[in-house]
Amino acid sequence: MRLNATPLYTPDQIQARVEALAGEIRRDYAGRDLVVLAVLKGALFFTADLVRAMAREVEVDCVRARSYAGTASTGDVRFTLLPEIPIAGRHVLVVEDILDTGRTATALLARLGEERPASITVCTLLDKPTRRVVPIEADYVGFTIPDHFVVGYGLDHDERHRELPGLWTLAPERDE
Ligand code: 5GP
Ligand code: MG
Repeated sequence: MRLNATPLYTPDQIQARVEALAGEIRRDYAGRDLVVLAVLKGALFFTADLVRAMAREVEVDCVRARSYAGTASTGDVRFTLLPEIPIAGRHVLVVEDILDTGRTATALLARLGEERPASITVCTLLDKPTRRVVPIEADYVGFTIPDHFVVGYGLDHDERHRELPGLWTLAPERDE
């Protein structure tokens, strides 16, 4: 599949949003201990930029979710990696690449909730609210987008395109 000719968001646009979100988070968590959990692999680059733009002390760890579903997710979400650092009694910020049906984030919040953190919030780079199946809203949203498949800045299509510094939509397939 090819990329569309112009990016959905350029690296400069992404960086400006990341800095604005980081400022909001810094203000909201001022004076409080904070654990940032990156949801692998999609949120890898976003998390790296976000925590550096926060310019405050944080602990960073990773979680990894797998949904067994084929293309249309059934809600059977399993975690193949959970944080090693203790989160009980602590403030946790989950960083996601994209909220689509909402199933992954919902299952993750339920699983992390079992560890009894003091609070959990969600920061997502991208939000596709029209695709939601489970009612969940992120506390911090980078960009709200229509139902297009997006790659770049950590997001993949069959493991390709994560390394792109901008965000791109895929062009529809054409018969040649
Ligand atoms: P949800 O559980 O919210 O339906 O699924 C979220 C996951 O679906 C994301 O973490 C991501 O892996 C995948 N996903 C949903 N929409 C897109 C998209 O537009 N582009 C990419 N690359 N992945 C997507
Ligand atoms: Mg993916």
